[in-house]
Amino acid sequence: MSLKVFKFGGASVRDVERIQNVANILEKYKGENLVIVVSAMGKTTNALEEVTKAYYKKTGKAQELMEEVKQSHYRLMAELFGSQTHEAFVEVNDIFVEADWVLEDEPEDSYDYIYDQIVSLGELVSTKILAAYLRERQLPAQWLDARDVILTDDIYREGWVQWEETQKRADRVAKPMLEKGGFVVTQGFIGSTTENTTTTLGREGSDYTAAIFSYCLDAESMSIWKDVPGVLTADPRLFDNVTKLDELSYREAIEMTYYGAKVIHPKTIKPLQNKSIPLFVKSFINPEGKGTMIAPDVEDNYPPMVAIENNQALLNISTRDFSFVAEQHISDLFNQITANRLHVNMMQNSAISFRICVTDQDDKVRDFTKAIEGKFKVRIEPNLELITVRHYNKQTLDDLRADKVVLTENKIRQTVQMVVKTIPPMTRK
Ligand code: ADP
Ligand code: ASP
Ligand code: MG
Repeated sequence: MSLKVFKFGGASVRDVERIQNVANILEKYKGENLVIVVSAMGKTTNALEEVTKAYYKKTGKAQELMEEVKQSHYRLMAELFGSQTHEAFVEVNDIFVEADWVLEDEPEDSYDYIYDQIVSLGELVSTKILAAYLRERQLPAQWLDARDVILTDDIYREGWVQWEETQKRADRVAKPMLEKGGFVVTQGFIGSTTENTTTTLGREGSDYTAAIFSYCLDAESMSIWKDVPGVLTADPRLFDNVTKLDELSYREAIEMTYYGAKVIHPKTIKPLQNKSIPLFVKSFINPEGKGTMIAPDVEDNYPPMVAIENNQALLNISTRDFSFVAEQHISDLFNQITANRLHVNMMQNSAISFRICVTDQDDKVRDFTKAIEGKFKVRIEPNLELITVRHYNKQTLDDLRADKVVLTENKIRQTVQMVVKTIPPMTRK
């Protein structure tokens, strides 16, 4: 059985036209076995995050915000199916009812737990809608609940995949569905604990979900369909002169995405590499385009590539006594980094200090600091940007440094990383 895994992100299913476009693409694969991993539609995840915040902070707006999410889906469905009585309405409504149940009670659980229960609904409804629409178009689409396959630990909002059990469930649940032939439509981004509660894998995690399915089901290839022609040398929203890369090695793709190239979730590549499954990044706007192939045996020869990470904080950590950080304390620090699921993008150490650049997300930096401040002094510089340049040349670095204060810089072989502060326009020369 040869199987392909496709992933369609939020932008590819954000409105009726785009959903029709997805069906047009899939029509060409009618006779094939596909797992189709789908994100929440458009900006639904952001909207559900707002619902969660409102509910948790008891602003009184949660139900109203939830109603807007529901109505936008109902409007889209009415247009897509040309009727308000299509069976998909019942299925979608059943999912939204779960949100009503949560929102009716006072928030008692942790924020992260509540977040996963509410935010996961976006993927559940988008896949119900897409599967129903594909069937309407005579495409063979079964709906699979990804939570029946992907088992995670119980760290909410950032569940770590339990691979062995996930593999067993994929064999038990997903394989028989695929053996019937046709398409299996499932959700990106979500998983479940051993207690059967819903978890999420971290924002933008749908690419990773597709890689998990690809790995467990031994896919022949995985394709992610994007609004860009493939992997580019930098984010086209931030830079003008970008070019498409036709081929990338796994290693290059991991390095680029780990340091913030937003085109693929960083955890996506490793499972594919472990089984030599090629990854194609293709355009849903121009599906015939060649896109980018990420595969084994690609010769590493690249132009300069730039990735930018916002919301960075630089943490300067030093010992309170006269001990050396790297000798006596490094394991304490690393344990706390893991316990708080801090995303470390750069590390530097001297005899008595240790410096890390981390993504400043929610309360992670605060919690980490609290956990270590008994032993260490911590100085935090927030609101920074991390610029990573692979295969740099002088011109690229000079251009990037303009209008920036560089706080620290690291060079390792082909890679330069700069932690910078942007000079506000008023103070520029
Ligand atoms: P999806 O909806 O599939 O999750 P995203 O919006 O998360 O898609 O990712 C696609 C976007 O990633 C592009 O629109 C582009 O702006 C951005 N991007 C950032 N870096 C790159 C890069 N190096 N190459 C291509 N796209 C990039
Ligand atoms: N819907 C989730 C998000 O927006 C997951 C994804 O799209 O990859 O982060
Ligand atoms: Mg994305």
